[in-house]
Amino acid sequence: MDLTASQKRSSVWEINYRERVSLASRLVKDMLDDEVKKQQLKINIADRPEQLKCGFCDTPVHFSEHIQLGLYFKHRAAGKDEEVRSLHSSCPFYTGDDRHPLLAQIYSGEGRWHFDTKHLIASILERDPLCKLDSVQVEKYIINHDENTKRRPDVYFEDLQDGKWAIELTNHWMNPTIAVERAKFFRNNDINVIWLLSPKCHLNQDSMFRFTLFGLSGKPNTTSEISSHFNGYAMDDDASLISKQESKFNIKALLPTFYVNRTENKVEYNVEEVIVHFSELHKDSESNVPYLDHKGINYQKAKNELEAYKADERERKKQLERADTERKKREKEARIKAAEEASIHERKQRKLAKEQKAKELANSKIEYDKFCNELIANIKNLLDSDFDDLPIFEAIKKSDDMRLYQEDKVSRIRSLNSKNNFFNEQVLKSLSSLRGHVEYLVSHYDSIMTSEQHAIIQSQLNRIDYLSEPFDYSYVYKPILSLALNMFENMPNRLHESFYQEYWTQISHKIRRFSTAVSQEVEVMVKDSLKQAPIPSHITKVIGAHNMLNKTDFANINHTHMNNIEQLKHLYEHISHSNFS
Ligand SMILES: [Zn+2]
Repeated sequence: MDLTASQKRSSVWEINYRERVSLASRLVKDMLDDEVKKQQLKINIADRPEQLKCGFCDTPVHFSEHIQLGLYFKHRAAGKDEEVRSLHSSCPFYTGDDRHPLLAQIYSGEGRWHFDTKHLIASILERDPLCKLDSVQVEKYIINHDENTKRRPDVYFEDLQDGKWAIELTNHWMNPTIAVERAKFFRNNDINVIWLLSPKCHLNQDSMFRFTLFGLSGKPNTTSEISSHFNGYAMDDDASLISKQESKFNIKALLPTFYVNRTENKVEYNVEEVIVHFSELHKDSESNVPYLDHKGINYQKAKNELEAYKADERERKKQLERADTERKKREKEARIKAAEEASIHERKQRKLAKEQKAKELANSKIEYDKFCNELIANIKNLLDSDFDDLPIFEAIKKSDDMRLYQEDKVSRIRSLNSKNNFFNEQVLKSLSSLRGHVEYLVSHYDSIMTSEQHAIIQSQLNRIDYLSEPFDYSYVYKPILSLALNMFENMPNRLHESFYQEYWTQISHKIRRFSTAVSQEVEVMVKDSLKQAPIPSHITKVIGAHNMLNKTDFANINHTHMNNIEQLKHLYEHISHSNFS
């Protein structure tokens, strides 16, 4: 037999001894520690072999001593009993089959904590001074923990005051119906139950953790009243270590402290951990789940606080809404007021603008009337005018000027009328009269001379004007003089007879002006000639001028000059011995 495998199995082999479950390894140790106990056990087995049975196959076992293996338990031989033989064949503790589902589950870890913790607690309770020694009972390890028929707790014991206790090891999810059934069973039998969480449940705070703390820590009720105390318990390494060290059953109490999470609007909790001895727990007659610190009030307080906070929030929201409504109302009123003020301002501005415009209009009207009155007065004078005493060209020009004047005034009056809607009947009448007068003058003077004739005279006058321009007497005198005389003697043949006199007047006037300029030079020249030797070519020019002047009335106006010229003539005749013609 393999020593290690045998010892390993021994540590998980449950043996029923006097209707109680013990570990084979435990019984071996007890016997090794206490020779008396060992011998008494030997006697008891010899007396009634059925007192000691395999926890799995329920067939009698006994112990042997071996030089190498030491003290160990083994199944009794089946002999010819076929039923026992069959039971042995399926028992892993008989066959040594480590792959058997039971052993595999215990070894693999899933059941390990449950198995080890159950036996650890039992062994500690047996040494705990506040526990009745003979009261400790362990439930046989069963693969299916959720089996509905199960009523015996994992560990059962009684305290010195005859209080009954059940330890329910909780390592995984449990059907709530089954959990409630068990809780009811413990309540009905007045057994204090401790739902003891594994380190895995405890550390993860998984659904079993929450179910134990908040679901199983009170009696179910349909009212809103909180009767639960919300204390939970765990058996972790700390509790195990202290329990072992003190040989007292200590557990870790898990105490939630509730508070309001205002950000998420809900009640949350922190869990405080305290290691306590089971005797320190208060018994709860309602649920039969003992507690260290009742947290129901704390929970109710946090809940109330949350409700109050929510109510405050609602009230605050309402106030904000009211304030918002008020603000909107004020804003609306302000908008209306501003609009009214703007409207008043606008009306005022419009009124001012209107007044300003009226004022400007009034001023314009004054100006307009003044202008009209001046115009009327002016027109009155103009209506009396004719240009009969002027040369015909000037008369035409004057009548044209008057027409332009009249047109200008008419357009100005029209512009002012249409712009400001002014109306001055009198000025319109005056302008109308002026128009009539102007029409008469223009047509009158135009009828005297055709435009073609007018153009002919004008062209002649332009040439005379050219003659009048300053010139160099020494070089251009003769051709200019010839031109003037030629013009003078050759009347344009398309000119109307009636304008001959007019033409004559104009031309002679120009020639006279020209001759006056010439005569001044002649005067100087004559004086010079008389002093010095006469210059024939100059004298020729002077004679030309003399002939020209004779054709005008110059001679009658300026006797001195003519006298000078006469002297020159004589001088020339004397010098040249020729006739002056
Ligand atoms: Zn067996």
